[in-house]
Amino acid sequence: MIDFEFTEDHRIVAELARDVVNKYLKPKIAELDRSGAHDPDFISYLKDADLLGVCIPEKYGGMGMDYISLGLVCEEMEYVDTSARVIFSVHTGLNSMTLYSWGNDLQKEKYLIPQAKGEKIGTFGLTEPAAGSDAVGILSTAEKHGGKYILNGEKMWISLADVADNFLIFAWTDNVKKNNRDHSGISAFIVERGFSGVTTGSIHGKLGVRAGNTGWISLQDTEVPEENLLGHEGEGFKIAMACLDSGRYTVAAGSTGLIRACMDTCKEYASTRKTFQQSIDHHQLVKEMFAEMVYGYEAGRLLWLKAGWLRNIGTRATRETSLAKWFCTDQAEKAAYNAVQIHGAYGYSDEYPVERYFRNAKGAAIYEGTREIHKLMQADYLLGFRADKEVRCPLPAYEE
Ligand SMILES: Cc1cc2nc3c(=O)[nH]c(=O)nc-3n(C[C@H](O)[C@H](O)[C@H](O)COP(=O)(O)OP(=O)(O)OC[C@H]3O[C@@H](n4cnc5c(N)ncnc54)[C@H](O)[C@@H]3O)c2cc1C
Repeated sequence: MIDFEFTEDHRIVAELARDVVNKYLKPKIAELDRSGAHDPDFISYLKDADLLGVCIPEKYGGMGMDYISLGLVCEEMEYVDTSARVIFSVHTGLNSMTLYSWGNDLQKEKYLIPQAKGEKIGTFGLTEPAAGSDAVGILSTAEKHGGKYILNGEKMWISLADVADNFLIFAWTDNVKKNNRDHSGISAFIVERGFSGVTTGSIHGKLGVRAGNTGWISLQDTEVPEENLLGHEGEGFKIAMACLDSGRYTVAAGSTGLIRACMDTCKEYASTRKTFQQSIDHHQLVKEMFAEMVYGYEAGRLLWLKAGWLRNIGTRATRETSLAKWFCTDQAEKAAYNAVQIHGAYGYSDEYPVERYFRNAKGAAIYEGTREIHKLMQADYLLGFRADKEVRCPLPAYEE
């Protein structure tokens, strides 16, 4: 039987997320965004509310809730600002959920537990200055010397680069495979900020997610103990794709929060703004924009909820997650574009939040697989050019 009801736990966790983001971020978000400042205190409020490990089992320091709960938290976060949801995408989705699936007992003990408790913050470093969509084009290397790997490389466009304590870093461990573009030569490493040769910096002048930290990571002869290799040597590309499955799920869910924010802000504005002697929400062409927002929100929500349900029962959901990410981010972009339009000239200034929604929505169509990459994936699944194989360390099903 298909059940469309949220549980009491779902309602409670969504309300908790709403309370935290409304209390600690909403009052300052306009100023943070205007000045391009990241507020590290907000992460500590998320930690105090235990939200950073929402879907990680209690035995690993998390809240022990299901994957739908993670989606609901992301929706509530992005209702206020994309920067809040990005914390969950990189810390919980891309990093902690990957440690939960791929980490050994020692790695879980040392890295997952503090991250799930929010004592340490994690992020994900795949992209480089010359390689984004084409992950096999990365240049970073990891050479084994005795019991250590020596990492060299530059990572770019990394969320929370200047904030995180732990980075998941992808680098080539096989030079021949690197030259042949054979992804089975890439490996994944847990790198701590305190390791030798690690430096980070922030990117300024971003179009959106201005209240979020985005930056670069430089690794210069960084010594990484061999026990920080995640999975086996050569499994890095598969791990990166598994990370992205979880990250994309959070982006999809978050995007429906942005659409809902557009709907609510526009409803209020359109009911009071009058033209031609009636409020603008009575004009058919304005109604059309509202109708498209509802369409994006409701259909997008079903897509990410299905992907969340598949996660809960332990079924790989790469295809469904990619579709949800593509659809939800596309619809969020459209909703934000229309939200500015509904506000007329007022939408063109930061007196109203819709211009921020508009700038923030753009990023989600680029990161975690661009719109074009998801279109290619969906076509390839349909045409039989692509199929999901079993992975060695699948994301564990939710256990009540
Ligand atoms: C705010 C923000 C936060 C980010 N956070 C992170 C992070 O935490 N960690 C991380 O590792 N990365 C992060 N990224 C990087 C992001 O994942 C990449 O930007 C993304 O993968 C796209 O890569 P690119 O920018 O190099 O674009 P490119 O790959 O150079 O693509 C440029 C254009 O070409 C198109 N294109 C490329 N290949 C094809 C093809 N085969 N067919 C059709 N079109 C194609 C793309 O769709 C795009 O339109 C972040 C980016 C942003 C903007």
